Amino acid sequence: MNTTSAYLTVRGIDIDVIYKDIKNLHIGVYPPLGRVRVAAPERLNDEHVRLAVVQRLPWIKKRRQELFAVTRLSHREMVTGESHFVWGIRLRLKVIERPGRGHVEVDRERLLLYVADGTSTESRLDILQQWQRQQLRARIPMLVAKWEPIVGREVPRWSIRRMKTKWGSCNRQTGHMWFNLELAAKHPDCLEYIVVHEMTHLLERNHGERFTTLMDKFMPNWRATRDRLNAAPLGHQTWDGGTTE
Ligand SMILES: [Zn+2]
Repeated sequence: MNTTSAYLTVRGIDIDVIYKDIKNLHIGVYPPLGRVRVAAPERLNDEHVRLAVVQRLPWIKKRRQELFAVTRLSHREMVTGESHFVWGIRLRLKVIERPGRGHVEVDRERLLLYVADGTSTESRLDILQQWQRQQLRARIPMLVAKWEPIVGREVPRWSIRRMKTKWGSCNRQTGHMWFNLELAAKHPDCLEYIVVHEMTHLLERNHGERFTTLMDKFMPNWRATRDRLNAAPLGHQTWDGGTTE
């Protein structure tokens, strides 16, 4: 089937659009981050789609809120046997209680979490997240250095934070970028894609044709990486395969 795609932003919400040989326009909101995808008949254009999205904005917002609520409610128990993703690889958590400062190690397919006796779930999660932060901090400088000459813009400052709705963001005035902590759970290509995506925003604010053209030039396979980023569950699954988020 012949399809074309577009990438719109409507009232701050990113919208993926695919035009194909169908009769009716379909809007979907997908977990875990509430990405909005529109399948539209070929006879329509971006403005039609924008209008349709605006009309259904209350429904889209409600659906996104429901998804975020699910993500918030699902809790990690941080006990042995749970699985956690590290750079796109599923590792089995093993909690080792022993005195001393909490830390994390990777031993082949196991994620070893060393904690003192009686450490709370929150503190365990905190130790893991500190470690994830270190993982990202170790990798981001290389990516920024690699892409600055290609994109032709500098990234004066970047930070890592937890974000519920975005993988990354940037302030176009200052060039300051933020990366979602959860990227440490994703394949390294996903982090690189977000770095390039945010850097491309230094050249173009919107997700319009110019943005897409620049992304195609910088990273021809960006769509596949974006889909990979959004297809996988966010963060956490139980080891027996049941998804909890
Ligand atoms: Zn963007």
